[in-house]
Amino acid sequence: MGLGEAIATGRRARGLTQIQFAEQLGLTQAAVSRYENDLRDPSGILLEELASALGVTVELLRSAGRMEGALAIGAHMRRRATARPTVWRRLEAQLNLTRLHCQQLADRIDLDTDLNIPWLDPFEFDPATAARLLRAEWRMPAGPVRGLIGWMEAAGCFVLESDFGTRRVDGLSQWARTYSVIMTNSTAPTDRKRLTLAHELGHLCLHSQGVPDDVESDAMAFASEFLMPAEVIRPQLRNLTTGRLHDLKRFWGVSMQALIERAYQLGTLTAKKRTYLYKRFSALGWRTHEPVSDELAPERPRLLADIGRELLDRGFTPPEIAAMSGYAAKAADNPFLSQGPHLRVV
Ligand SMILES: [Zn+2]
Repeated sequence: MGLGEAIATGRRARGLTQIQFAEQLGLTQAAVSRYENDLRDPSGILLEELASALGVTVELLRSAGRMEGALAIGAHMRRRATARPTVWRRLEAQLNLTRLHCQQLADRIDLDTDLNIPWLDPFEFDPATAARLLRAEWRMPAGPVRGLIGWMEAAGCFVLESDFGTRRVDGLSQWARTYSVIMTNSTAPTDRKRLTLAHELGHLCLHSQGVPDDVESDAMAFASEFLMPAEVIRPQLRNLTTGRLHDLKRFWGVSMQALIERAYQLGTLTAKKRTYLYKRFSALGWRTHEPVSDELAPERPRLLADIGRELLDRGFTPPEIAAMSGYAAKAADNPFLSQGPHLRVV
């Protein structure tokens, strides 16, 4: 790939059309198109202007331009069919760009992770087996997964949360060499976020190489077993009532709808009873807005901000940290320099 693709990805990540980007820079759309198609190389000063308009460093664009293979590699994405292409293409570009930032920083620091996400062959392991293997490898306690993001971050997964501006996309993920990057929609309730994270984790484990057909249901089956291991949850899923579903949701940190589906899969809920429960849900308005979500412990990523804080502690200045991670010094969206609540690394 070349520099042009890096520029185009940066522009799409900002949600700009070629015309809008050209106007911002005082260029013609034709000129932008030539740069993006590598028909012409931007001069030194212009490249600096392009990078600064995109909130990145020249070095980031240049190193992306030298990379082998395509920059805009397809991402796994949990989205509804009704999600608008302009929206999910912007998100995909953001993920590609974030991957570059994380990769650049990871090349400069020694990030020692306790765990890792294994690559499992989907033709050898079915999704549920893969989920059980991962839980065993990570030595996770039986039962509900508490602090899912923490587990994933401990395995070198960079999780970023932002408002996607739509509820139709939940999350997307991608490998960055030995690290992985996941973006999740901050507007989703905690239970939904957790399901998305587990779903993307399934993609990272099972679909790191070629992608077999029907990966969405595989990722869902992985997420189900990972968050609700059959052996532990099955006895709890008998005689489901709405009251019982409340309690189970609090305990397992998954939506009541996910619990209903799990019970149905595991054969502890009949099709008739499932239909009945969903009718009740509709009548109560729970299909769109489930209760109890607000009571769940919120899950927020902290790895990137923690890395930034660690670097500050070691004496690096914010502009230096920005440069290390490929963000323009003035970029307000640098997750390594985000002003989150101070959390100590334990
Ligand atoms: Zn998916």
